[in-house]
Amino acid sequence: MKIVMKFGGTSVGNGKRISQVAQILKKYHDEGNQIVVVTSALNGVTDKLLDNAFFASTKGEVSLIKKFKTELTKKHHEAIKDAIDEPKVAKEVLQILDHRIGELEKALIGICYLGELTPRSIDYISSYGERLAAPIVSGAIRSLGIASTDYTGGEIGIITSSDYGNARPLEKTYELVKNRLGSILGSQVIVITGFIGENENGIVTTLGRSGSDFTASILGASLKADEIWLWKEVNGIMTTDPRIIPEAKTIPQISYSEAMELSYFGANVLHPRTIEPAMREHIPVRVKNTFDPEFPGTLVVAEKFQCEHVVKAISLIKDVTLINISGAEMAGTIGTVARLFTALANAGVNVVMISQGSSESNISVVVSEAHAEAALKALHSEFNREIIKEINSDENVCVVAVVGAGMAGTPGVAKRVFGALGNSMINIIMISQGSSQYNISFVVREEDAFVAVRILHDEFKLYKEN
Ligand code: ADP
Ligand code: ASP
Ligand code: MG
Repeated sequence: MKIVMKFGGTSVGNGKRISQVAQILKKYHDEGNQIVVVTSALNGVTDKLLDNAFFASTKGEVSLIKKFKTELTKKHHEAIKDAIDEPKVAKEVLQILDHRIGELEKALIGICYLGELTPRSIDYISSYGERLAAPIVSGAIRSLGIASTDYTGGEIGIITSSDYGNARPLEKTYELVKNRLGSILGSQVIVITGFIGENENGIVTTLGRSGSDFTASILGASLKADEIWLWKEVNGIMTTDPRIIPEAKTIPQISYSEAMELSYFGANVLHPRTIEPAMREHIPVRVKNTFDPEFPGTLVVAEKFQCEHVVKAISLIKDVTLINISGAEMAGTIGTVARLFTALANAGVNVVMISQGSSESNISVVVSEAHAEAALKALHSEFNREIIKEINSDENVCVVAVVGAGMAGTPGVAKRVFGALGNSMINIIMISQGSSQYNISFVVREEDAFVAVRILHDEFKLYKEN
């Protein structure tokens, strides 16, 4: 089989874990599979890179950069020591990494002096997490006697839009990757940096946080792989976040549409766009646990599987802001909604949920907390108190989404959802149901959110095996 396997940040968290990953890869390689590996940055490195880029631009202290360089070097040198037994390979990787860390240091010092951090520089700096991880993963594979080479996403043909921080692959990516990667695959295990691509001018871009899932799916679709496997620290896609409800169960099989709804609605087990490329080529996606490799995990496929559960999973989005827009003149003023969403789109705001009251004098939108300030600014400047009289916002809210293809055409699901919450005196602030009917989502106060998830997990008996 031709399989693209992606390993997340926790899976490659340190040298010992990278060494386990190499063993997993060796097993599948020795069984005769053709493997392409996508790696995330070592656990926590992307966050540290972003923090230090921000400090560099605000504090401008070169000594902080030197300190960060020392920490980063130590972490990666230790990883090399634990992951790569072969001294010659370890030395090669060490040299590559020291060179790359030197480049990174220069860029951070540049930001210190300029006191400016552009979206383009953020992408450049944050790309180093994966650029430091890939040579170590590839070296660990070589040290087990298997030929391996590492490439960046851009080198292998992932050419994207210039939307820094949220870049999209251009259509030509699929052909380019097929040609470049296809021609070098052979019997070696190719390791590719997740998360990063480059635009048409060769400038580094990133696909958004957790973007390595998306990279794996893009590569899988380009190569027409038999399967795409996403190795994580959890037992697959579960009935809810196991950090919220430890009794959450693995969902053995789920459809593309359900997995998409879940990933759009906060189950950050997958990058929101992961499923799209896989789906266009009908490639099954498996979500597996690096720390329990024999466990089957979750299989995401095209068909809707008959299963006892109407609702498959509950997810929670925490970092959101609710914005209410009201004004009596909004009723009947054609084009207000269009202006509102155009203003938000032009400000780069991603709208999570929308609801308009039937009186038409009130619209509520939920946006991610990171976009709230930009959203409010855009709305104030677009309307400047004409038509819209009041704009207010509330950060202390969460979105809960109830997802399952079985909900479509099954009457009474909403009654159960809101009945169960009502019985526990949980106040619902806003409701929306997607037209796919695979998803009912609603807004509650932050302090009610965990209880709401627990009540619904119990109401739909998700703790029972599927
Ligand atoms: P990656 O290795 O790709 O970064 P993680 O190993 O971090 O992915 O795993 C995904 C995270 O998603 C877990 O930490 C888990 O708590 C969270 N999560 C949220 N919702 C779900 C869900 N429905 N099923 C599984 N994990 C979930
Ligand atoms: N390293 C990136 C992040 O932390 C991408 C990824 O892990 O998939 O978001
Ligand atoms: Mg993670």
